[in-house]
This record gives sequence, C-alpha cells and structure tokens, in this order.
Amino acid sequence: MKSLGKFDEFGGIFVPETLMPALEELEETLLKLKTDKKFNSELMQLLEKYAGRPTPLTFCENLSRKLCCKIYLKREDLLHTGAHKINNALGQALLAKYLGKKRLIAETGAGQHGVAVATAGAKLDLQTEIYMGSKDIERQKLNVLRMKLLGASVKPVNSGSKTLKDAINEALRDWTANVNTTHYLLGSVLGPHPYPSMIKFFQSIIGKETKKQILEVENRQPDLIVACVGGGSNAIGIFDEFIKDKTVRLIGVEAGGAGIKSGSHASRFSDNLLGRVGIIHGTKTYVLQDKFGQISNTYSIAAGLDYCAVGPEHSLLRQSKRVTYTYATDKETIEAFKALSKEEGIIPALESAHAVAYVIKAAKTLKKDDIIVINLSGRGDKDLDQMEHIIK
Ligand SMILES: *Cc1c(COP(=O)(O)O)cnc(C)c1O
Repeated sequence: MKSLGKFDEFGGIFVPETLMPALEELEETLLKLKTDKKFNSELMQLLEKYAGRPTPLTFCENLSRKLCCKIYLKREDLLHTGAHKINNALGQALLAKYLGKKRLIAETGAGQHGVAVATAGAKLDLQTEIYMGSKDIERQKLNVLRMKLLGASVKPVNSGSKTLKDAINEALRDWTANVNTTHYLLGSVLGPHPYPSMIKFFQSIIGKETKKQILEVENRQPDLIVACVGGGSNAIGIFDEFIKDKTVRLIGVEAGGAGIKSGSHASRFSDNLLGRVGIIHGTKTYVLQDKFGQISNTYSIAAGLDYCAVGPEHSLLRQSKRVTYTYATDKETIEAFKALSKEEGIIPALESAHAVAYVIKAAKTLKKDDIIVINLSGRGDKDLDQMEHIIK
C-alpha cells in the first residue's frame, strides 16, 4: 500500500488478509487513473451526456426573501436516477472496467444506491448483483423492481437485523470469495482505504462545479455551505473544494430523528453517549454503539441518513473543527420539505431536506448579504409515498 488511508487516527484498513491484494490493486489503479486522459475523458462523457452534469446552481428568490439571506441550491436532484449517487456509481463502474472486472456487487438499504449501481452496470455492460436486507426488500418494493428492470439481480440477506449493515457484511463476504472477477461498488465515503478517498474523488466534482458557478454569479466565495450527512459522500463532495478556503463555513447535518434525547436518531456526532470511535466495515470512525460496543439501532425519516457510522474523514473534519456538525429532527425536516416545495417549486429528498431545515433554523443568525449554498443531494419523488400519511 502506498498509503494507509489514515485521516489521523481515523480511517485505515481493517479487513481480512484475503482482501488486501484487491485493495492494493484498487489503490494503484486509482492513482494511475486519476491523471489518465482517456479515463477522465470517458468519465466526463458519461457524467455530461448520460447523467446530466454540470448540474445548475439555482438561486432561491422566495426562500431568500423570507429568510433574509441569499440561498442557492446545488441541484444534484436533477441528475439521472435523482441523486448524487450516480456520480460515484458511474466512476467506480468505469474503474471496474479498467480493472478488467466483469461483475459488480453492491449493498443497498433503501435501494437508492442499488438503483444507481444497477444503472451504471446496465450502461457499462457489467453483471450486477445487489445485496439487500430482506426487511428492506419488503419496504422498498419499487426500487427492487427498478433494479430488476435494469438487469441486476437482487440478493436477499436474512442475517442479523435484515437491513443495510447485514447487506454490507454479505457483500464483503462475496467480495472476499470472488475478488478476481468482481468489483465491490461501495456507496458512500466509508469502508477500508482506498474507498473513502476514491468516492471523494468521484463526488468532488460537485464542489468544483459549485465554486466555478458561485464565482460567476456572485464574484466571491459563499459564506456557508450546508449538506446532509449519512455516510457523508455528498457532503465531502461539495466541501472538499472549499476546505482550504477558511472563510467558507462548512456545516454537516445529521439525522436527529425523533430527537437526540429519545435515542431514536442517527446522529453519530451529537453530544450523547452513543457516538464513539469504533471499527466497522473496515474503517475506524465514529459509530453509534451501546456500552458493550454493540451497534445501536438507528432511526431517521430519511432512509439515506439512517446509518450507524460516518465516513472517517468526517471524524477528522469534526475533530479539527473545520466542519461543524449538527442535526435536524424529523419534524424540522418535514417543515423544510414542505417549505422548499411551496416556496421554490422544488421537492427535495428527505435527506436533503435536513440541510434545508438547518438553514431555516439558522436564518436568524445570518446577515442579509450572506451567501449560502445548500447541496440538494436528491429529489423527493421517492419519498412521496412515505409523506402521504404525514402531509395534510
Ligand atoms: C444516499 C443519500 C444521501 C446520504 O448519503 P451520503 O453518502 O451521506 O451523501 C443523501 N441524500 C440523498 C438524496 C441520498 O440518496
């Protein structure tokens, strides 16, 4: 390994010996491809002609007037398949081709990552198998149907809680047995090195475009950038380009669920006893766990934020205080979901609505000419069924 993939004490590689050659091969190939003209031009083709990049930066007149500041949205919701996940899926699928692998495997919780991978697999003609907890299969019938239609096979996982973390374990097991033919397409900035850095590489196009676009319209950097944090890929994707610009405040918003005190949430970073440093799925980072180190049950109205661990680089960005992490509750999120829909004609994903909720809450502390960019990681169509019972 050229690098141990450490973000100070966080990150690293905690996997069985049998996976080390595959991770080394992945790191070496990634290092080469990052500066490879042919790879980058093929990836750009896919992102522009297939996925719909660059995504617009939209000014929100109505919400800005109401909240007395200047609010822009980075429109990842307009991408093919409806969220930023396609950036990473296409990047890794193309990389798998360069590695000579014929088969993709992935894990999925709510099915959004599974759909992105199945899409990339179809486009790049790779055999695709998606591991999914049997409980999630039951809850997410439409996404299961999408994946099947896209030519992927969906493999039910019946172990443990029959949800995402069990699906990850199963996918890792498959990868261990089939590393020669198979690429494991992880969905967020999690897992062993080089995954967190590789996925950041594929998502950092969000921040690069944002910087160019905001300079064009405002001729200066934004004051504040806000993104929701599940595993943390859309957040790192928009933050990375601005980390060096210390004048730009960066805010990550976790899922506050029913409230931190209730214990029903997915906030790894809020001040409570559950979020502690641990090792999970090959990396060292903040994990929600009980006093015996058993993984806690998590909860959020937004399936994409409902996860027990956060990407290791976020743990470092929090420790170094470069990024401030906070949370929005389900209740605040629903209000934001309604507000953005009504004020701007944009229905956000419930995940992204967490970032909007933060801005609505923080508005009284903001100045009239403060420039705020919210990463609108996805669109809300997928959430309407769930919201039907909530919105009157
Ligand atoms: C999956 C998902 C997320 C959470 O994933 P990150 O890796 O934290 O970005 C956020 N928003 C949407 C719309 C998603 O689909």
